Amino acid sequence: MLRVAVVGSGPSGVYTAQSLLQQSLVPDVRVHVLDRLPTPYGLVRYGVAPDHEKIKSLQNSLRAVLEDERITFVGNVEVGGAEGLSPARLKELYHAVVYCVGAATDRPLGVPGEDLPGSFSATEFVSWYSAHPDTATDGFALHARSAVVIGVGNVAVDVARILARDADELRATDVPRAALHALSGSRVRDVHIVGRRGPSQARFTTKELRELGALPRAHLVVDPAELALDAAYAAPAGGPGTPLPAVVRRNLEVLRGWAAGPPPTAANRERRIRLRFFLRPVELLERGGRVAGVRFARTAPDSSGDVRDTGSYEDIEAQLVLRAVGYRGMPLPGLPFDTARGTVPHLAGRVLRGGVPSPGEYVAGWIKRGPTGVIGSNRSCAKETVASLIEDAPLLARRPVAADPLSALWESGLRPVEWDGWLSIERAEAALGRSLGRGPVKIPDWAGLLDAARGDGR
Ligand code: NAP
Repeated sequence: MLRVAVVGSGPSGVYTAQSLLQQSLVPDVRVHVLDRLPTPYGLVRYGVAPDHEKIKSLQNSLRAVLEDERITFVGNVEVGGAEGLSPARLKELYHAVVYCVGAATDRPLGVPGEDLPGSFSATEFVSWYSAHPDTATDGFALHARSAVVIGVGNVAVDVARILARDADELRATDVPRAALHALSGSRVRDVHIVGRRGPSQARFTTKELRELGALPRAHLVVDPAELALDAAYAAPAGGPGTPLPAVVRRNLEVLRGWAAGPPPTAANRERRIRLRFFLRPVELLERGGRVAGVRFARTAPDSSGDVRDTGSYEDIEAQLVLRAVGYRGMPLPGLPFDTARGTVPHLAGRVLRGGVPSPGEYVAGWIKRGPTGVIGSNRSCAKETVASLIEDAPLLARRPVAADPLSALWESGLRPVEWDGWLSIERAEAALGRSLGRGPVKIPDWAGLLDAARGDGR
């Protein structure tokens, strides 16, 4: 029997476990899927926006994998932390370990004023409305009239959409009580989404972009003159030898429609989402000890396809700033780390120590390839890693490992939450929602989750 630990139960971890079961070269594989949290599904639970029900429903297919009898979910077990399991100990317990720990932190913006009160990373905001139990902040500046979201990726679009929605539209979702209450008191009326380059270089996908235009209570504002600076906007088919990628073409079509756009209606004139381009953030401005705006350098396309500063500046007023400039992988103590890329160095998924593959250690997902791609991208990534692992399996299986790794975890003082515990959390969240006249509502804190896992929360 080949015993494998997968660290992380987000999409990359679950797809890795699934690939391990689907291959036929090594028939008898047992997989323990470990997670630091007592809950499975990683960013599908704690990153996908609550109003993206269809993507959230992916949890059902991840659940089907985790319920396979050859897989054991082992939550509430930290790997690499001060009191958790070290990678060296994991190697003693399992023939192979696949790290699928994602990209847990946000990329810094690196401009003065970034840490002013009222300025948050989008990751913090997403964690808050997703009820992540590590959320430290509860004081998002929703008294703000004007909010700036820096970055034009899908996370920027997510947080802008949540800010621009009427809180009532979120009642049907699993958004936690405190966040729903705070959002219902929000006074935000203008949300500026700002990109440092042009619309053809934006990272959002068309479906997500279109959703902004479909919000019932917000009106889209796009400046045609700003769009026209982008050569691709003027020639959306691209040059003869350089056709534009389909996603860029579609994004430009959507933006073109908005630039020509219908005027606001009685229903959506209260709130505005302003999509801005060619503005590079240089400083967060302060008034009375809090953020009061963002200073941007105006940019323009240069001959290399990038942008250059034009020498002029624009200040946008904002009492709330969300920095949505990408995620970043965190080093896991005991594993090698490439600081420049924010990933673990690897060869086809095999962890490299000193440039040489380390037998029995693998990576998949964002910690392997960086924080890019949609959830489905993790399937092929996991398959590649599992192919390497299975190729190594004859050698790995010769090494003696613990007969019962779970008992070893308990003996070392850890208190895993297994699948039954997770099902108890699900029941407690359903009960909480019923008591509030809503569908399931997420429990937002560690104590509540662990009580529920032990059955104390019902
Ligand atoms: P992202 O797609 O990498 O976008 C980051 C944005 O931040 C880019 O516009 C980037 O501009 C900008 N940026 C980076 N550094 C900056 C700086 N110093 N100043 C100003 N702007 C800066 O990252 P993300 O939005 O966090 O998304 C991460 C991944 O999750 C993506 O693959 C995304 O598609 C995925 N995701 C998907 C969904 C969905 O499918 N609904 C939802 C959320 C996230 P440049 O291009 O100029 O660098």
